[in-house]
Amino acid sequence: MKLHDAVIIGGGPAGITAALYLARSGCSVALFEQLTPGGQVLQTESLENYPGYPQGIKGYELADLFTAHLEGLNIDRPAG
Ligand SMILES: Cc1cc2nc3c(=O)[nH]c(=O)nc-3n(C[C@H](O)[C@H](O)[C@H](O)COP(=O)(O)OP(=O)(O)OC[C@H]3O[C@@H](n4cnc5c(N)ncnc54)[C@H](O)[C@@H]3O)c2cc1C
Repeated sequence: MKLHDAVIIGGGPAGITAALYLARSGCSVALFEQLTPGGQVLQTESLENYPGYPQGIKGYELADLFTAHLEGLNIDRPAG
């Protein structure tokens, strides 16, 4: 059995943010998401109030960027 410093349940914005901070601080992380990373953002046509996207961004595009941000870090993503 593999041990991790932190286990996160849920790959919405909160879980992904936690995973990024923990991994970047040197912790080994397991991130469990039962569906696809993105959470409720994936149900959102367009987010108009997300910092850094003054023209708005489609939910699925932001979710893809969340996933890309996880790559290369010490984050295991076991199948949900
Ligand atoms: C239609 C809609 C439009 C929205 N529009 C906006 C907007 O324009 N601007 C804005 O700022 N916010 C918007 N929101 C709100 C925003 O999406 C949420 O505030 C945000 O997604 C909450 O993030 P979260 O990570 O806390 O939770 P969630 O996004 O709910 O993520 C939780 C994740 O945990 C997973 N999960 C739950 N239980 C388990 C389990 N047992 N095992 C594994 N995985 C599990 C779920 O599958 C989900 O992916 C909108 C929400 C909706 C529904």
